[in-house]
Parts: sequence; C-alpha cells; structure tokens
Amino acid sequence: MKNVVENLVLREYERLLQTVPGACTCALCKEDVMVYALNRLQPHYVATPAGEVIAGVEMEKVQGQADIAVALMDAFRVVAAAPRHGKRATKAR
Ligand SMILES: [Zn+2]
Repeated sequence: MKNVVENLVLREYERLLQTVPGACTCALCKEDVMVYALNRLQPHYVATPAGEVIAGVEMEKVQGQADIAVALMDAFRVVAAAPRHGKRATKAR
C-alpha cells in the first residue's frame, strides 16, 4: 500500500527547493516540509507498484502541480519559521 501523493510531493519538493531562497535541506527540515504538505493534501492510496505509476499520472491530471506547490510553499514558510534543527532557519551546506 502506498500513498502516491508522496511521490508527487517529493518530486515537487525537489523542484521548488531550487526556487526557495535559504530553504534548509537537512533531513529534519525536509521531513517536516513533506509532512506538513502531505497533511494538507488529499491522500491517494494504491495497492501495487504498477498502480502506483498509473495513479501518479492520473493524480497529476486531477490534482495538478498547483495544489501540491501551494501546500509545499506553505510548508517551507512554516518550517523555516520554526526549524527543528536549531535556532537558525538556514544552514550552510
Ligand atoms: Zn534544517
């Protein structure tokens, strides 16, 4: 069982990361951004790896990148305001 929205959010996360100035890429912040965004999106579960691929394609048509991007941009803001990795919102890598 798999929530295919996770795949779409992860891909969009990696795309948006390039466009968000100062976004922290540490594991804690990445997880927090993913969790925050996923909790705001309708989950879409499939049973098999084949279903995962098909449902992923369908999801892009039905839900579109826009909803996912909006949820992720909110998530970047929230996580940057209160990062779990420490006091600073950004960290040099
Ligand atoms: Zn971080």
